[in-house]
Amino acid sequence: MNLARRTGDVSHWWSAIGQPEPSDPLPGDAEADVVIVGAGYTGLWAAYYLSELRPDLEVRLVEQRFAGYGASGRNGGWLSATVTGGLDGYARTHPRADVARFQQAMIDAVAEVIAVAERHGIDAGIRRGGTLLVARNAAQEERARDLVARAERWPTLGAVLLGPEESAARVRVAETRAAVWEPHCARIDPARLVRGLAALVRARGVRIHEGTTARSIAPGRVVTDRGVIRARHVLRATEGFTAGLDGERRTWVPMNSSMIITDPLPEEAWAAIGWRGYETLEDLSHRYTYAQRTPDGRIALGGRGYPYRFGSRTDLDGDIPEHTVRELRDILVSWFPTLAGAGIAHGWSGVLGVPRNWRATVAYDRDSGLGWAGGYVGTGVTATNLAGRTLADLVAGESTDRTTLPWVDQRARRWEPEPLRWLGIHGLYRAYGIADRIETRGAARTSFVARLGDRISGRTG
Ligand SMILES: Cc1cc2nc3c(=O)[nH]c(=O)nc-3n(C[C@H](O)[C@H](O)[C@H](O)COP(=O)(O)OP(=O)(O)OC[C@H]3O[C@@H](n4cnc5c(N)ncnc54)[C@H](O)[C@@H]3O)c2cc1C
Repeated sequence: MNLARRTGDVSHWWSAIGQPEPSDPLPGDAEADVVIVGAGYTGLWAAYYLSELRPDLEVRLVEQRFAGYGASGRNGGWLSATVTGGLDGYARTHPRADVARFQQAMIDAVAEVIAVAERHGIDAGIRRGGTLLVARNAAQEERARDLVARAERWPTLGAVLLGPEESAARVRVAETRAAVWEPHCARIDPARLVRGLAALVRARGVRIHEGTTARSIAPGRVVTDRGVIRARHVLRATEGFTAGLDGERRTWVPMNSSMIITDPLPEEAWAAIGWRGYETLEDLSHRYTYAQRTPDGRIALGGRGYPYRFGSRTDLDGDIPEHTVRELRDILVSWFPTLAGAGIAHGWSGVLGVPRNWRATVAYDRDSGLGWAGGYVGTGVTATNLAGRTLADLVAGESTDRTTLPWVDQRARRWEPEPLRWLGIHGLYRAYGIADRIETRGAARTSFVARLGDRISGRTG
């Protein structure tokens, strides 16, 4: 018998509210002022802020399936203030004050998403509960201490070190030796947010041509399977799917991330694990596992699964193999042994975009009218708001605090050709798995295997 009663089908979030049928496909060749390819958070936020700044512009979106079909409707629902690429990494290439401004902009973006949802009656189950990062072995504890020591240089982060009792007072994760607590995170229901945003921009006259696939993007035009749209401004918001567009195969690697969700847990189960608030939860392993207590009383837990498919292919409907469900379930039970009998309702996966320098970017070229944003490496729920807003500023020709942030116009080199890409990425994740095993067996410090992996991959910060 399969461990999860359902797999694929995009995500639990969409299954719970019902997947929409694609609507308003492109009827043929068309014109607009702005055309945005991809109706995830990035594309929808850009459309939303354009409708505020320049309501006179005709904006159209092109979406291969339905709005929120990609990572935006499948993610772990962490509305966090994380700067992709790391503050220390940016501080090596940019003035410190600009990096601090970037962090503050991310903190403000968390508040902005919450405010927009409240203002427009989008019920996305948003609750601000901060983040608890638990350390469960000596090497993880060393990383927790290091993280807090480094965070002292960035006081707005508000990161504090907790002892095992203080951590257990928030959530009782087995074998916790220490934890880091950060205040700037809210849990959300991702699909409800993206559905609400799509309805909001449609109500403002933006057309979302669903069931319409872009084949190529060029200055002034997007060629789709249903016709060509000409526009002065063309924005690419395809993130983890970008490799499927002509000429973009090696721009951002599509990395998979997988999730499982439990059945609703009874009150006694919550009492046993002591998770009464809305903290988002993560451990400090290299394999990177994160969870939230969902608005409908379940635990949703995510991790890597199968990281990357040869040739940058993307899995469309999010199916995941039984062994990935099992791996994630085993992590859940190792955190919370009392949940050994909890049913797993659904398992799914999605793709996220990873640039070669592991830094997200927003870019717009005034001469060609081409813009893009993405490469969030799995931390885009908040960053897409800032990115979409910045794209809108740039298209509108407005110079704002956002348009000079360090991530604007980041240029990363292209990924290596195959088979190097496949070997490198799988090698990296194999190394992280080995490092986790070494550390679980009692290593006192972060394994050199993981440090070497970070160094070789260029993943620093
Ligand atoms: C399992 C998982 C868990 C995650 N958890 C978190 C989390 O907890 N917190 C966090 O901050 N981030 C998380 N992320 C990352 C976050 O979800 C993404 O960074 C964010 O949703 C990216 O939004 P986007 O709009 O740029 O891309 P997407 O939501 O992927 O949207 C891109 C859209 O473009 C469409 N598209 C692609 N190609 C074409 C084409 N050729 N023609 C037409 N349409 C096209 C797609 O169908 C899709 O709807 C997670 C990601 C995954 C996969």
